[in-house]
Amino acid sequence: MTIEVTRSTCVGAGQCVLVAEDLFDQDDEGLVVLIEEDPGEDRVDSARRAASLCPARAIQVRE
Ligand code: SF4
Repeated sequence: MTIEVTRSTCVGAGQCVLVAEDLFDQDDEGLVVLIEEDPGEDRVDSARRAASLCPARAIQVRE
């Protein structure tokens, strides 16, 4: 699985961090920072949940 984030569309809602703080963080401006680009398969559910909750659709999960 790989995760991609599009910081240019991130609106800083922070849902991704609430769902998966080991995968995502936010910078000083609130924009998403990807911590783990290629996490283990055990994190698939969390990554997908974060992607589905992101109001800006700024998170892509590829398997
Ligand atoms: S949930 Fe989406 S909009 Fe909010 S911080 Fe994360 S990537 Fe950005």
